[in-house]
Amino acid sequence: MDSNIKSVLCNITYTGNLLLQKEFTADPISKKKKKNRGELPQYFVPNTHEAIIDKETFDYVQSEMARRRELGPLANKALNTSFLTGKIKCAFCGQSYMHSQRLNRAKRTLQPEKMETWACGSRKKKGGRCIGKEIPHRIILQEAASAMGLEAFDEQAFTERIDHIEVTGARELTFHFRDGHTDIRHWVNTSKKDCWTAEYRAEASVYRRQHAPNRKGCSCFTTKLKCTVCGENFRRQMQHLASVENETVYYWRCPHPTQCGTRDIRDEELRQATAEVLGLEAFDEAFFLEQIDHIDVNAEMILNYVFKDGHTVERKWDTKRRMPKWSAERRAQFECQPKRTYSPEQRKRMSEHMKEVRRNKHWSSKGKS
Ligand SMILES: [Zn+2]
Ligand SMILES: [Zn+2]
Repeated sequence: MDSNIKSVLCNITYTGNLLLQKEFTADPISKKKKKNRGELPQYFVPNTHEAIIDKETFDYVQSEMARRRELGPLANKALNTSFLTGKIKCAFCGQSYMHSQRLNRAKRTLQPEKMETWACGSRKKKGGRCIGKEIPHRIILQEAASAMGLEAFDEQAFTERIDHIEVTGARELTFHFRDGHTDIRHWVNTSKKDCWTAEYRAEASVYRRQHAPNRKGCSCFTTKLKCTVCGENFRRQMQHLASVENETVYYWRCPHPTQCGTRDIRDEELRQATAEVLGLEAFDEAFFLEQIDHIDVNAEMILNYVFKDGHTVERKWDTKRRMPKWSAERRAQFECQPKRTYSPEQRKRMSEHMKEVRRNKHWSSKGKS
């Protein structure tokens, strides 16, 4: 820091107040002065003259300088975050996310932990309030690596392939690739929970249920269902059924069905079929997002489920398949369903089933003869 600026910032006299006996004469013979670090009393005289900097700013500068002293060399070390500057956008207010670092206060007494995070720019502005949540820097790198299909983050690959990242939920990041495709990712703060726990799953499920009405036209299948003929994503459409009052049906359709010959896929049936592929009794969005990368659909209406670990499961889509009309009992069952959490036994059973599915190379669905 420029020493002139530093002397203004550190000298309380410029705040319009006086602090007397800042220095004292240590040796009367040489008249050598010493800084008063509590050897003698000091006197604070407020409002003695016009202020050059206000007391609030002065105090802030002092605390900031103290913070940087504590951070030591880390404070001024230029971390390479510039490649992310302006690339993380808040979906709630449109502002860019900004980088910041601080010490984790909770751990200050022990080895202080440096926290590097990104927060919505509007939260840093005066009176700014935005629901866009803070995200650890390492989570951004980790999720970017996964979105690109890499084991570790690679800055060059990021710059080449990813246009920007949109913060679309409390734990949701939407990666917008330069080639036009998007990847929605749900992250877990691995510093607290080192795996995809039942607790987190329940939490994420509650969040998604609460936010579902705000994400118009969006579902976990958005950008996940791909037409292999046209190379387009299936889009969700809505239809009100005249036969049943207040009944809205969603279905998925390729934008060019007449060209490619693909048929509509009822959302409810897709969920049911996907649950079966995943070995679940009922569809679970979180588990789907965790396990499946995308689903390819071809002209013969064969759904090819591509799992994140690379294995695939094929399923012939039965276009004649119709769900039975909903009974009051079934509806009640469905409404209660997402509230349930997964017991360790259920999770174990689920993962055993997944292993079984992977082992069995001849696995085929009942629709395929
Ligand atoms: Zn925001
Ligand atoms: Zn198509």
